[in-house]
Amino acid sequence: MNNSEIFQLSEKYMPGGVNSPVRAFKGLDMTPPVIKRGEGAYIYDEDGKEYIDFVGAWGPMLLGHKDEDVINAMKEALDNSLAFGAPTLLELELAKFMCKTLDNIGMVRMVNSGTEATMSAVKLARGYTGRDKIIKFSGCYHGHFDGFLVSAGSGVLTGGIPGSAGVPKGSISNTLVAEYNNISSVKAIFNAFGQEIAAVIIEPVAGNMGVIKAEDDFMREIRALCDSNGSLLIFDEVMSGFRVAYKGAQTLFDVKPDLVTYAKIMGGGMPCGAYGGRREIMEKLSPSGPIYQAGTMSGNPIVMTAGIATLKKLYNNSCYYDNIEKYGALLEKEIRSILTEKGIKHEINRCGGMMTLFFTDSEAVKTYDDVKTCDIDMFNKYFSHMLKEGIYLPPSQYEAMFLSVRHGEKEIEGFAEALRKL
Ligand SMILES: *Cc1c(COP(=O)(O)O)cnc(C)c1O
Repeated sequence: MNNSEIFQLSEKYMPGGVNSPVRAFKGLDMTPPVIKRGEGAYIYDEDGKEYIDFVGAWGPMLLGHKDEDVINAMKEALDNSLAFGAPTLLELELAKFMCKTLDNIGMVRMVNSGTEATMSAVKLARGYTGRDKIIKFSGCYHGHFDGFLVSAGSGVLTGGIPGSAGVPKGSISNTLVAEYNNISSVKAIFNAFGQEIAAVIIEPVAGNMGVIKAEDDFMREIRALCDSNGSLLIFDEVMSGFRVAYKGAQTLFDVKPDLVTYAKIMGGGMPCGAYGGRREIMEKLSPSGPIYQAGTMSGNPIVMTAGIATLKKLYNNSCYYDNIEKYGALLEKEIRSILTEKGIKHEINRCGGMMTLFFTDSEAVKTYDDVKTCDIDMFNKYFSHMLKEGIYLPPSQYEAMFLSVRHGEKEIEGFAEALRKL
């Protein structure tokens, strides 16, 4: 079966043909390639077409596909069976490694996805503070948990509007939405609800409305508001953790979070997540404390093995991050010069190997409202063209593209060559 035959059949057996919505290429005039295998910076579809991969499984494949050390470690671990639902030396090894090599992580709890990490961190913050309300930012994505599926815009003080069918009003009545990089919107909520707010959750470098970094003052003031109101600050580093730096986006601010969530890269391509933070907060989790959170598959030995191999390799090779910055900067420069020559209006936001090319005539993209000025028709034209040329990108203007440690001059030139033909 070729790509389109497989996808047609998939639509018969899975809603929309996929197991996660963005993969379906909705809003684009095509069906997605069906991917068969990957190697380094490249992936191959069922028709045998080769692509340079700038998605990296939506972030996890920072080491590139089929990293030898990760695969070999997993092969070895497979010999001991797949799951026990019991304490293992492997989960200790990963937990200890994370606590030692990351900042502000006294203890961690392993889970199976980013969604699980963020929803559990919020529950922990609520249990710890004895409060119900949380503040999130429009344009930030924290997974598919009901309490996070609140759309942007109005209703900042009145609570949100559901961003999905099937979300009861009650599930989001405690979710207050503020504007990213707009501190007065956060102050207004604290003024109205201060002592009721359990936590502020934020992507310190947003990736789910395209890449936007929080401004330093904005982040400092959020920290101060949390402190003066007794609320916790949660950094959602599911995307930015181990990505913008080994220690994540935390390193870009002189602000300490109380809790941090991780997933994506930390599993090296396996389903994995974790949340961690100050010991006295983490100890409130069951069974040492009263806040219940559990998982049959949490800390799975094969997943832990992939995580250990991935994080150790990243930690021991800080040159990876230097290289990614170098090639990220080169790619940014190439895109700017090609699009400027073509007279195509654009902005690029980049944090290391995580970047978004916005088709907008705004001077800077700093807020969700700026993102909404983008020319979606232009994006779709660009995306379709690049895919045809063998450049695999996230199929949405509101996503980040990623480099891996296996991307080098050849891959950047491949991208540039394709873009020149636009
Ligand atoms: C991807 C993502 C999530 C959700 O993680 P899943 O593993 O898809 O559940 C949460 N927060 C951020 C910032 C993400 O990028």
